[in-house]
Amino acid sequence: MLGAILTQNTAWTNVERALSQLRAEIPLRPESVLALAEPALAELIRPSGYFNVKARRLRSFCEALLEAGGEAALAALPTDQLRQWLLAINGIGPETADDILLYAFERPVFVVDAYTRRLFGRLGLIAGDESYEDIRQHVEAALGPDVACFNEYHALIVRHAKEVCRARKPGCQVCLLSRGCQQREDESQSP
Ligand code: SF4
Repeated sequence: MLGAILTQNTAWTNVERALSQLRAEIPLRPESVLALAEPALAELIRPSGYFNVKARRLRSFCEALLEAGGEAALAALPTDQLRQWLLAINGIGPETADDILLYAFERPVFVVDAYTRRLFGRLGLIAGDESYEDIRQHVEAALGPDVACFNEYHALIVRHAKEVCRARKPGCQVCLLSRGCQQREDESQSP
């Protein structure tokens, strides 16, 4: 769950470095995070970027987690209620909340990130101005409530967007989705 906050606006490799530094100092439990002074926490998570903001967010999350009775108490909540609880915490937006719901609580919630928007936009599946909720609900309705499927589907989108449908110079010539892609020709002919 801490990783979902640390990964905001940064690559997962940076999160792994931050978590590794944190783990070397304290057990990854809310009580231990809160026992650290905020500047010390910020210093330990420095590799994740925006470390002062993220230190505050981690503390807010850990305080809320303990107040709610811990992870086991939250795991008993229905998904909608758990999502509302997450969204009420300072610094947790829809993407982070859904990250936590899918990966930590194994709830059938689809995570819409920048990779998803880029790939869906290029494929013509979205216009680009849809809200987060519109895209999330559309994908969830199309795929059905299946945690393993959402997990795999999101992982495949991320991998494709990183390795082939890159932000700059996408590899349209080797893309398996090129036949159905509205941006294939333009992108493949760009210098
Ligand atoms: S054809 Fe190009 S732009 Fe379209 S999905 Fe594939 S890599 Fe992305």
